[in-house]
Amino acid sequence: MKKIFIAGQWKLGRGKPTKSHYPADYSQNAEISTASVDDVNDAILAAEAAWRDPAWRNSLPSEKAAILFKAANLLEEKKTFLAKLQTRDNGKPISETTGLVNSAIATTRYIASCLETLDSELTNQRIQSVLTFTTYEPIGVVAAITPWNSPIASEIQKIVPALAGGNAVILKPAEATSLIALELAAIFEEAGLPAGLLSVLTGKGSVVGEAIVHHPLVQKISFTGSTSTGKHLAHVAADKLISTALELGGKSPTIVFADANIDMAVNGVIYGIFSSSGQACIAGSRLFVHQHIYDEFLDALVKKTKNIIVGDPEAPDTQMGPLISESHLKSVDDYVNMAKAEGGKVMAGGERLMSDGRDQGSYYAPTIITGLSNEAQVCQEEIFGPVLVVMPFSDEEALVAEANNSIYGLAAGIWTEDYRKALTTAKRLEAGTIWINTYKKFSIATPFSGHKESGVGKEKGRLGILDYMQTKSIFLNLDDTPNPWCEVK
Ligand code: ADP
Repeated sequence: MKKIFIAGQWKLGRGKPTKSHYPADYSQNAEISTASVDDVNDAILAAEAAWRDPAWRNSLPSEKAAILFKAANLLEEKKTFLAKLQTRDNGKPISETTGLVNSAIATTRYIASCLETLDSELTNQRIQSVLTFTTYEPIGVVAAITPWNSPIASEIQKIVPALAGGNAVILKPAEATSLIALELAAIFEEAGLPAGLLSVLTGKGSVVGEAIVHHPLVQKISFTGSTSTGKHLAHVAADKLISTALELGGKSPTIVFADANIDMAVNGVIYGIFSSSGQACIAGSRLFVHQHIYDEFLDALVKKTKNIIVGDPEAPDTQMGPLISESHLKSVDDYVNMAKAEGGKVMAGGERLMSDGRDQGSYYAPTIITGLSNEAQVCQEEIFGPVLVVMPFSDEEALVAEANNSIYGLAAGIWTEDYRKALTTAKRLEAGTIWINTYKKFSIATPFSGHKESGVGKEKGRLGILDYMQTKSIFLNLDDTPNPWCEVK
């Protein structure tokens, strides 16, 4: 049974144990203990003491950064192991998890460098003889709650800037995928992070997650996951009057204009929806293709989609692994059946894959559906699986309205050789990230945020650390004249 990291100690949590399975064949990776409500309380009390400890509070940015740089080096040393572990935990192909670990290393180094070079703002003097300046201070105990689809990326993205800001972090990974979070705890411990500043509390969202976010000492919730859970956490945060960063769902449109470079666009669209088996909040799941090139484009899209290598996630050339669980596969399949019932035509996939040993795991074929309008339920709800709906368009005004006709606003893709059209369309699309002639590209230097029901707040960016800090403005009077207001007339 795996121990968990509570208040700087490796212990068996007092909650009901959980298991991690390999979604490719459901062999067991590990049995993991989970936190109880008492464990949550212990971790948070220790976190509160740890961030208030003068040794941490008064440590220089360069001293905190040194720990982060060490953690980055350890991540690098353990790169192969971490990528394999992530693959075992959620079934993502090894080529993809290797990329995610690389990005986690780069994120950690980038934030450490930002911390070293971060300067506080000096406001201009507005009052004669009063010097004013603003400093940034930690918020306190931060809850970082993460989903199962990209643990290493979403966890590092939250832990590192929160620690850089001088806070303590309570990390609650998804129940199905806790293994990376526990390795991260070991890495930060080895890097010299003082005890109590990071705890990893495994377990169910409805038990452990709830106990964490309701705890009075938790002062910020940084969450990535479903819109429904995000809305619930926003209510919890509102009651406590604490801040949130919520990275939620998506139903991202991709637009292919008639003048697009077809080869590039076909490959980009396929990667945008089918990498990660579509289990990505930014998956480009609604595709609008100009009528003039629709048939040619669809033909190429279907042909290439049928060639995607779906199989063993540990094989280096695999492009799509299994879905995370049987229940998730059923939900994806239900959506495909719903699409058929709504009049949709399945052009590729539309079924689970059982041949070549794939009957052991939750494999679903990359699926392309046509014949639906944007109002169809499968175009409005997030499927979080390898399902693409393709729709033709001719009128560009109507197209922008259709693309924006969604409760979500996370990302969008545009394919055209006309840069004016690309930029004017980008301005009109309601989404936090727009990719032009590319898709699913990320950079830690670039802020990531969702519009509409895709989220509140942002992550990443050079000043991302400040999202985990609060300001304090100081007015220093240089004059020695008593305030005349109090003088008796
Ligand atoms: P998904 O559908 O991707 O699992 P969720 O939003 O349900 O998305 O889960 C994302 C993370 O939020 C997981 O770590 C989960 O355990 C946690 N979670 C779910 N419900 C709650 C809750 N009520 N309070 C706190 N955390 C929760």
